[in-house]
Amino acid sequence: MLYSDTELRYEMPEPFSGYFLSNPRRMLDAFVRIESARDVANFAQRFGPLELCRHGLPYTHVDEDESFAGLWMIDDQECGGPIQPEPISRWLEWVACARSLLNAAAFFHDGAFPSEEDWNHITRIMSPGTDVKRLVTSRSRENGFEDERLGLGDIVSQWLLMSRIEPRFTWDLDGPRFQLDTGTFGVLGIQLMEAITRSQGLSTCSGCGIPYMREGRRPQRGRRNYCPSCGTKAALRDAQRERRSKLKEQADGTTPS
Ligand SMILES: [Zn+2]
Ligand SMILES: [Zn+2]
Repeated sequence: MLYSDTELRYEMPEPFSGYFLSNPRRMLDAFVRIESARDVANFAQRFGPLELCRHGLPYTHVDEDESFAGLWMIDDQECGGPIQPEPISRWLEWVACARSLLNAAAFFHDGAFPSEEDWNHITRIMSPGTDVKRLVTSRSRENGFEDERLGLGDIVSQWLLMSRIEPRFTWDLDGPRFQLDTGTFGVLGIQLMEAITRSQGLSTCSGCGIPYMREGRRPQRGRRNYCPSCGTKAALRDAQRERRSKLKEQADGTTPS
């Protein structure tokens, strides 16, 4: 990992398939603490580079035939993949954006509007051309709060979209396993989503079988857990079914055959 005050150079294993992250926990914490070129180099050493393209975005914002740009409207569609070196200034903009997304989310959770400064950091990189001044002055209109919060949701969604996160299922000696395959940028996106939803990460619903972001405590081993849409109804039904089958077992056990 080579760096100066303005640039970061890195060696990338071929092909560009994303880093193998042995322990990406706390990655977002380390990212939002970045202040200097040295911090950028330390972070990249530990977790991998952002793999920015010449648009200053993760190069995965377009697919192989460069036809899909997520929600990004870029006049010049040609991307060309990751560039080297990566500008430190762009890294610092991404750091400021991630910090401001967390700040803004905390405000929304408290029922308050985020600061204009946070919106500036977020939109400068995620939604260039947004008129933040106008956004802030039009807050008193009907549904102003909900609309602004929806906007934040779209931006987090956009971060995930351009990270090219791929589901993967493996079944080896460790047993069947579901995981999401992505690079540094995608892991940051997933951790941002976890932090913003105040969840403990992905769980699989015992009712519908679909992965969802679980809030509060992690599900205990062997205990059922339900997504918000299945919720308590499914939990009650399953508990009842279990009780009935236990009663039946007991009844069967006492009845001589
Ligand atoms: Zn690009
Ligand atoms: Zn469910």
